[in-house]
Amino acid sequence: MNTVWTDTDTPTEDASPPSADAAPARAPHSERDATLRVAHEMHKLEKRLCRQVGQAIMDFNMIEEGDRVMVCVSGGKDSYGLLDILLKMQARAPINFDIVAVNLDQKQPGFPAHILPAYLAQLGIEFHIETQDTYSIVKKVIAEGKTMCSLCSRLRRGILYRVADELKITKIALGHHRDDMLQTFFLNMFFGGKLKGMPPKLVSDDGGHIVIRPLANVAEKDLTRWAAHRQFPIIPCSLCGSQENLQRQLIGQMLRDWEKQYPGRTETMFTALHNVVPSHLMDASRYDFKGLKITGVPNAEGDRVFDEETFPLAKLAGVQVLGSLC
Ligand code: SF4
Repeated sequence: MNTVWTDTDTPTEDASPPSADAAPARAPHSERDATLRVAHEMHKLEKRLCRQVGQAIMDFNMIEEGDRVMVCVSGGKDSYGLLDILLKMQARAPINFDIVAVNLDQKQPGFPAHILPAYLAQLGIEFHIETQDTYSIVKKVIAEGKTMCSLCSRLRRGILYRVADELKITKIALGHHRDDMLQTFFLNMFFGGKLKGMPPKLVSDDGGHIVIRPLANVAEKDLTRWAAHRQFPIIPCSLCGSQENLQRQLIGQMLRDWEKQYPGRTETMFTALHNVVPSHLMDASRYDFKGLKITGVPNAEGDRVFDEETFPLAKLAGVQVLGSLC
């Protein structure tokens, strides 16, 4: 961020017509233009990230006056981005709250334990590194070749809840983003038989903590660009050697393919998560279908039994459109 803005005091472009030997002089200009373009784009990206995080915080009342927010930092791009943007929000927020970065070193072989403490110390913020060798426990308990993630994450959760209590934390912030939420929604629908996503805010399973996901509105591709721009010291996430959830990968690929084929679909699906209509689903515990009564009052906004066709039929040249006959 800072480096790209430092070039703005370079001279303005010469308005005189280019001479025959002007070619070598154009290269620095075009380089400078490219630098300014990148700076402009990154400025826009930063504004978008802050706006989207601010919106999520407001919509779901994620952070309140006096909160101590524990930001779980794993060393991946998402949690670095979360910490980075929350620190920016903290500086301009209309309320006061603390941020405590917490990393759990699970002793995976090859984990570069020095990277996060060095990064966090250089930020000058409050942080805590919790070292617990859950890797050995998981290795001992789970048979070779079986997925370790479920036990590993259960252990991790328990440790983070304890650390949150010790640090007098009031909110635990996780780095899940919009694409994680959509993936979870489809995983639950395809494999769990439920219309259920990943909540932006929830009470933890032990009942003792509020967990928030301030990146709920943020697209993963924006976090990827932000991480590259900010040059976060990313720690690879495959150190434990466990296979990442295959189904989640497949769903992620499906969503990316859809987006490529039908640009804008991801955004539309994400909007749909905000617009649930229980009367048009089939969960009788969410809507009183049994108790439905005739109102006798026409409602222009109400349902027509035969919904109006909303496809762009006018584009079907030569086809005469008739009303629904069925
Ligand atoms: S990928 Fe490795 S570190 Fe992550 S949850 Fe699974 S076992 Fe644990």
